[in-house]
Amino acid sequence: MDQNTRDELLKLFRTKLNEAMKFYLETCSRCGLCTEACHVYASMGQVKYIAAYRAEIVRRIYKKYFKGRGKWWSSVGEAKELTDISLQELYDAAYSCTGCRRCMLYCPHGIDTQMIMSIAKLLLVGANAEPEILTLLADTSIQKEKSLDIIREGFLQGIKNLEEEVVKKWKVEAGSTPIPVDAEGANLLYVALAGAHSIIPAAAIFNAAGENWTLSFFEAVNFGAFVGDPTKTKLILDRIINEAKRLRVKEVCICECGTAYRVMKQLAGEQPFRISSITDVHARYIREGRIKLDKTRFSGPITYHDPCQIARNAGVFDEPRYILRHITDNFREMSPDPKYNWCCGGGGGLVALGEETLDFRMKSARVKADQVKETGATILTTACENCHSQLSDLNSHYELGVEVMFLSSMVADALIADSNDAMNKAA
Ligand code: SF4
Ligand code: SF4
Repeated sequence: MDQNTRDELLKLFRTKLNEAMKFYLETCSRCGLCTEACHVYASMGQVKYIAAYRAEIVRRIYKKYFKGRGKWWSSVGEAKELTDISLQELYDAAYSCTGCRRCMLYCPHGIDTQMIMSIAKLLLVGANAEPEILTLLADTSIQKEKSLDIIREGFLQGIKNLEEEVVKKWKVEAGSTPIPVDAEGANLLYVALAGAHSIIPAAAIFNAAGENWTLSFFEAVNFGAFVGDPTKTKLILDRIINEAKRLRVKEVCICECGTAYRVMKQLAGEQPFRISSITDVHARYIREGRIKLDKTRFSGPITYHDPCQIARNAGVFDEPRYILRHITDNFREMSPDPKYNWCCGGGGGLVALGEETLDFRMKSARVKADQVKETGATILTTACENCHSQLSDLNSHYELGVEVMFLSSMVADALIADSNDAMNKAA
């Protein structure tokens, strides 16, 4: 690595050094309490997957360039130069960490390894050494806003083609639109993922609840966050914020995408609309009597996987359980305290990297597979696309014998057709 490149990367490093980050980088007491906390280490038993070990790779570069002792006396300061070799180590540490933050719960100092790994990811972006596909996907999302006029007609036609399926799940009042798009003054903007599975059940539930809603032109997923590029993360986020402001909605509802929800919740700042996960919204509809569910629709024990980015990292624990109490009398918790739920092993962009990470994802999530198996459930439900994909792969790989379902699809399938007039209730 030449000096110019190193200097540029160190400038990027410096942008991450706020007070919290300095605390994380200067505090580890090497107590080892985080050792068993990481699903990767717990499943594979390799030292390089201990949270503190990963963080140490970043910490030593920090010591070398940002701390006096490391600058002048590397061997004593445990400092390490930023080289092509250390870039490879940063890659291995960052792209084997799903950012689940389970380790943070065990650390007596609350050290956030996911935050430390965000430095590693940023340096990789700066060195053009990140997984290219994640940057390509982030760029495509950003480009979509610029090309909206060109793609608008095709998008609207694609949505029109889904309407029949929505009406099959829930009839809509004559004259109204099963999937409204670009409706100014709507109450709620729903931000889905690309794909009918993210739109049809959600639309049926909004219609059943008599919601005054509209569908976003944009997909919720934020590949900028996966690749650890703060500029792209913000641009992708801003598309949704701008659309919500233009339509003057009161609420933005993020579909079953953990990272999209966490990023929106934590980075959007103060806005003239509230931000909700789709799980929050469905629980509210049940609580307000706007939808009713059939408890006999699903048979057999059901368990729920808490997506790390929605539960541990954004606080949505009670709502999915409230919904499930209206779907089944046979719910089985996976973890005595959901805060400590094992990560599915697919976050941090690993699922988006597909086949390339499949072997690692399966090996590193053995403890998750065991956790599912121990419940004896026949249905495994979750509220995140990434988790759903990873859990489906685990289901095949470990022959778990469960049906993996989206929680929102279960709600849509359990809607009772003759519930009270939802339109009146919404008024
Ligand atoms: S954030 Fe999750 S994956 Fe990363 S080191 Fe901590 S426990 Fe492991
Ligand atoms: S638990 Fe915290 S202080 Fe202890 S080794 Fe892990 S990161 Fe360091």
